[in-house]
Amino acid sequence: MSIFELPDFDGHEQVVFASDSQSGLKAIIAIHNTHRGPAMGGCRMWAYPDSTAAATDALRLARGMTYKNAMAGLPIGGGKAVIIGDARTSKSPELFRALGRAIDQLGGRYITAEDVGTSPADMTFVREQTRYVAGLSGDLGGTGDPSPATALGVFVGIEAAVRHRLGVDSVNGLTVAVQGLGHVGYDLARRLHEAGARLIVADIDRANGERAAAQFGARIVAPDEIVDAQADVFAPCALGAVLNRQTLPRLKCSVVAGAANNQLATDDIGEMLRDAGVLYAPDYVINAGGIIKVCAEYLQEPVDSVEDRVRAISGTLDEVFQMAERDGIATSRAADTLARARFA
Ligand code: NAD
Repeated sequence: MSIFELPDFDGHEQVVFASDSQSGLKAIIAIHNTHRGPAMGGCRMWAYPDSTAAATDALRLARGMTYKNAMAGLPIGGGKAVIIGDARTSKSPELFRALGRAIDQLGGRYITAEDVGTSPADMTFVREQTRYVAGLSGDLGGTGDPSPATALGVFVGIEAAVRHRLGVDSVNGLTVAVQGLGHVGYDLARRLHEAGARLIVADIDRANGERAAAQFGARIVAPDEIVDAQADVFAPCALGAVLNRQTLPRLKCSVVAGAANNQLATDDIGEMLRDAGVLYAPDYVINAGGIIKVCAEYLQEPVDSVEDRVRAISGTLDEVFQMAERDGIATSRAADTLARARFA
């Protein structure tokens, strides 16, 4: 395998392979772009089938962080780490300490945090070896779970989208279909309910749906039916690639705006949504609340400045929507163009 020949290689500044025989660490750290500042992005732990799959994921995720961080106006670039291993069976404090040492050797060019398969508790061990880590628990000076900040960003993003597409000032009286009621989706559902929206929800964990039904009067549908829901807004808050050639013809909504990463299965789905008259809020713009909070924690900025910056996601989306309309392009493409101008 050569990194440079992988389809997801996009001029990444640096890719580091780190291993430690004692702990079994096998990790890849990809730094995509540091023009705006040191690269920041979480560390994913996943049982990749081979190192090519892991490198591909690291490259793709690191690039995504450059776009997300630039669009959020943060003074950081994009990077990501992946650990090859099963998060359920292969974790140890020594593994994360070894990762911490590898990150420390980069001298601050890459700052890590938790991601899929890792937790604030794991970051505690990383912190023992390096200060280039964020997303720590409260007892280590961290600010805890970033999900409520992500949910707030998605909520104000939905408001911006319905303002643009439907000409209404709030979600009051609108129907929103929420796919996935986890850390972000549940808090988003609460905010939507409090703002007067009607909810249709689905989660593979039935208890989550039942809790939302009891607390927010949400109507539960089966996980494979949420895409068909008759709603004004569809908010994907579970999986990636939910918008694809199979699901697109089934959508009944006029807005797609949710927290999930990598919602478009392929780039051309962005154009297809536009052609279908669906306003898509680009995922990495609307779901930046968490990284805004984690970045503020790392830079030791006042906690009370975070909310205003998360709410500013609404204005960034307005800019994306207006550019897409003016230039007759998909919102996903408008966001990419605006982001590139910010990190070039
Ligand atoms: P989570 O794991 O807490 O929640 C995901 C929920 O989706 C779970 O309740 C799960 O049961 C449900 N789910 C899984 N597959 C489903 C399916 N097929 N249909 C319906 N429900 C399903 O994750 P989270 O932290 O809430 O993140 C949700 C999404 O947002 C992810 O794509 C994540 O990458 C993205 N995201 C999260 C944050 C954050 O701050 N947590 C930030 C940016 C992006």
